[in-house]
This record gives sequence, C-alpha cells and structure tokens, in this order.
Amino acid sequence: MTPVIHFSDILVIGGGLAGMQVALHASGDLRVTLVEGGVIGESGASPQAKGGVAVAVGEGDSPGFHAADTEVAGAGFCDAEIVKLVCDAGPARLDELLWAGVPFDRAEDERLVLNHEAAHSHRRVVRAGGDRSGRLICATLARNLRETPNIELRQGCTVVELICEGERVVGACLEHRDGRREVVIAQATVLATGGLGQLYARSSNPPEARGTGLSLAMRAGARLVDLEFVQFHPTGLWAGTQAVGQPVALLSEAIRGEGAHLVNERGQRFMCEIHPDAELAPRDIVSRGIWAQQARGESVYLDATALGKSFARRFPSAYEDCQRAGFNPATDRLPVSPVAHYHMGGVKVDADGRTSAKGLWACGEVASTGLHGANRLASNSLLEALVFGERVARSAAEVARIRNAPLSARANLDLMQWPDAPDCAAAERALQQVRALMWATVGVVRNGAELERTLEQFDQMAARFPARSAIHDTITLASLIALAALRRCESRGGHYRSDFPQPSPDWQKHTIFDSSGICSEALPQDLALSAR
Ligand SMILES: Cc1cc2nc3c(=O)[nH]c(=O)nc-3n(C[C@H](O)[C@H](O)[C@H](O)COP(=O)(O)OP(=O)(O)OC[C@H]3O[C@@H](n4cnc5c(N)ncnc54)[C@H](O)[C@@H]3O)c2cc1C
Repeated sequence: MTPVIHFSDILVIGGGLAGMQVALHASGDLRVTLVEGGVIGESGASPQAKGGVAVAVGEGDSPGFHAADTEVAGAGFCDAEIVKLVCDAGPARLDELLWAGVPFDRAEDERLVLNHEAAHSHRRVVRAGGDRSGRLICATLARNLRETPNIELRQGCTVVELICEGERVVGACLEHRDGRREVVIAQATVLATGGLGQLYARSSNPPEARGTGLSLAMRAGARLVDLEFVQFHPTGLWAGTQAVGQPVALLSEAIRGEGAHLVNERGQRFMCEIHPDAELAPRDIVSRGIWAQQARGESVYLDATALGKSFARRFPSAYEDCQRAGFNPATDRLPVSPVAHYHMGGVKVDADGRTSAKGLWACGEVASTGLHGANRLASNSLLEALVFGERVARSAAEVARIRNAPLSARANLDLMQWPDAPDCAAAERALQQVRALMWATVGVVRNGAELERTLEQFDQMAARFPARSAIHDTITLASLIALAALRRCESRGGHYRSDFPQPSPDWQKHTIFDSSGICSEALPQDLALSAR
C-alpha cells in the first residue's frame, strides 16, 4: 500500500512538555507537524509531574545557587556551561508560562509560592494546583497549541522509523492506530519522545516510556551517551498488585519531610543506621537502603500514621493513590519499593539540541544535554524541557528557513517493506522478561557477573526476533544500558556497582554508543564534540 506523503518544515515527534514547547516556539511562518502516540497534553510523563518546576526567582536565591545545587546532585558529571545556561534561562521561561496562562500557586499577597525540595539550597519550586503541576502546565500548552495556526497535529500515531537521505534525516514514517502508514518529509526533525522507565518491571513512568526515541536516533546515526545513569525513586507505592506495565504511584520526599518513617516488616527503622539524614538522605541512598531490606526478604513500608488525617489535606493526590490501592495513610503502613524514575543518559546533543545526525534535534528526557550529569536534581527536568524546547525550536527553525531545500520524497521508502510484526504474544512475553531482568540486574544495585549473564540472555532473546521490529529495538536498548553499566567500573550518581562501590577518578569519562552500537569512552572535554 503506497503511504500518504505529507510535507512540513519541522517535524516534532512526541507531544509531552518538550515536544509542545518546540512546536509552539517553532511555528509562526513555518509549518510544524507534531506527532504523538497518545493524546497531546495527556500522554507521557509530563502531565504526571507533581513536584513542579525549579526556577531561581526567590528572594536571596540566584541562578548561580541553582547551578551549584544542580552540579552537586550531578556527582561531578554535569556540563557547567549547560547548567548555567539552563538555570539562567529559568526565570524567562517561567514568565512565558505565566503569560500562557498556567495557574501557578500564589500566596495571599499574589506572590508565587516557592516550595522547598530536597537538595535545593533555596525555596525555588513553583507548583500549580498543589501537586497537579504537570497536568495544568500541559493542559495550558495543549490548548494554546490547538489554537496556533501552522501546527498540524497527528495524535494516536507512532513514529516507527526516521527517514534518511544519505546521512541526513529528512522525516519519519508513522503508523496510525488503524495500521495506515504515512510519511512526513521535513527540513528539520525533532525527537521529544521522553524516557525509558518502562524497560523496568517497577517504574513511575507511563506505559509509553519505552525509549523508542533512542532506538530511532541510533539507527539514524546519532550517538547515545551515559545510558547507565538511571534515577530510581525510593518510594513508589508498591502493593504487588500493580498491573503489568502501568506506572507505580509515588509517595514523595515531602511526606518523609513531614515525619513519615521507613520501616521493615518488624517495624524497625533502618535508614538511621545508613545516613545521618535517615529517610531524607539522597534518593539513591534511600533506594539502596530499601533494596537491601528487600534483598533480605523484608517488605518495606512508609509509616505516615503520625500525620493522621492531615495527610489527606497536605497530600491530596498521594492520598487518592493510596485509597485507590486500598490503604488509609492515617491508619495503615504503606508498602513501598524503589522504582525506575528518570533517565539521565540519552541522545547526545549540543547547546542547541542538535544530535550528531544531520537534520535531527532532540530535547526533553530523550536527550542528554549535560544538565543532569550522573543524577538529576529534583524538578530540573521540566525546566530543561522548557529551556531546550525553546532553543531547539530556534535552531531547527533557522536551519529550516536557510535550507529551504525542495523537499522530495526520494527518501528511503523501502520502509514499506517493514517486516511483519512478530507474534504479539511472543513479543509481549519477551518484553516482560526484559523488564524483569532489567529490574533484577540493571536496577538499583548492579554487579559485573550478573550484568554479563544478563547481556548473554539479551543476545539470545534478540536473535529470536526480526532485526527491525519494535521488540528487537527494546531488547537492544536494554542490552546497551546493561553494557554501559558493565563498563563503568565505579559507583556514581544513579549508577551503583556492589563490586565497585566508590567513585573512581579513572571514570571521569562518559560512555558513548555510535550508530552501530559500539561502546567507547570520552573525556568530558571531548564529549562536546560528540554531538557534531
Ligand atoms: C510520576 C512522575 C513525576 C515527575 N515529577 C516531576 C516534577 O515534579 N518535576 C520535574 O521537573 N520532573 C518530574 N518528572 C520528570 C518529568 O516529568 C519528565 O522528565 C518530563 O516530563 C519529560 O518530558 P518529555 O516531553 O521529554 O517526555 P514526555 O512527557 O514523556 O513525552 C513524550 C511523548 O512522546 C510520545 N512518544 C514516544 N515515542 C513515540 C513515538 N515513537 N511516536 C510518537 N510519539 C511518541 C509519548 O507518547 C509521550 O507522550 C516526573 C516524572 C514522573 C514519571
């Protein structure tokens, strides 16, 4: 069947915060096509964000303080120029959201409420609707997007391949839910496909967070970097009854900050022996504390009963999640587990979001800008999506205007011979196996011997599926993360190796995958060149 061919100036793939921000800033005189697998403004991780956006606008705060906190969290791995650029741009991006109509929370004197979050030295997290920040920001941008001329939306469509002419990305092939295929040819293509938490059996991420953008980018010739750095949130509400592939609700640090304690089955607090800040220690330390209890066969609980009935008032959204799972936080201990939450690694980009593949940009969680280093500071990812979304739009629009090359559809359309999807049941079984292996061996605590065994298993599994199928991509991506974790013989940020429990000066370098999946290392000063 001949696909419909559609021409555009800029193609944006992914309709979360990053994708919407690019589309809104790139339109005007240019035609933008935005493709989203689900529903714009409702899909992806962005609407799930509860904490808010970190911006240094408070009295006594400054972008410099914000940058310093970001670098401490990043464990010596942040790109200082990018950190400065993002923190400096925060206030302007916040003003823009206010103009766009996002109803950020205000005090009685009409000033913005600035919240305090762990590892931030100042109160600087703005929220909307209490813990409904992501939902309200996305709803506002989605409304504005629908009213913007020159933006064409394709919802319920999945991009299955990028199209290259020579070494240049010139668009993408999409599949509609009813199986129809469409080709979009564009001067500039932007990946904004979000994270990969759903490669793990326990994750806070929505079902669509499977890292498809990373596979698309790599096949088109873009480099991937630091894939081993995954952040685990310590306290997902984990009753063991979770439907497979569905996100686990989070019980935030703020609840622990209000006096809730972590206890094992025997009611013993265990974090006090591990860190002076006990339950309020950094996320990776709390995650490992819980993991160690679980490894001994103990279930772990968050005991928030001391908050009594005030829990419902202070944490309305978490209260609803608890009720839905059959728990009353005023009287019940809440079962918890670490969950895969955020991917610091991604498609390597420069300060304008350009990848190493010509014609291709990336932003949001799929990209690795250098902002987060080895560990993300809470509430910095929405900020990154806003700042880089604007920068990518500017850069891609500039290229689209200058190039103005006649768009042809001579591109590699042999995609239409895409192999038949493998047996769905077999692919689904393989996916569950990937998720279980990733959780057990490429999760909170890793070690060399297990990583090697997992890599062998991934190889065997991949051989059972056609090379250009979605499940093959998923297995390949999982094995790249495992390989990067195996190569990094140290512990740093979100990456912990029980056989190398300390950071090592020898590992002040980044892991990089080229388009054939070959892994190498680069020193920080050489990394900037890797996006070119
Ligand atoms: C529960 C939770 C709470 C969080 N809280 C905060 C917070 O308070 N503050 C903060 O800063 N960060 C928070 N984060 C992280 C933050 O939400 C994400 O990092 C950020 O929203 C990512 O935005 P994005 O636009 O890159 O991706 P997403 O919002 O995930 O959007 C990606 C979109 O791409 C689409 N897509 C993917 N592949 C394809 C394809 N092949 N074809 C078409 N479409 C595709 C998906 O359907 C999805 O809608 C939280 C994350 C979670 C899961």
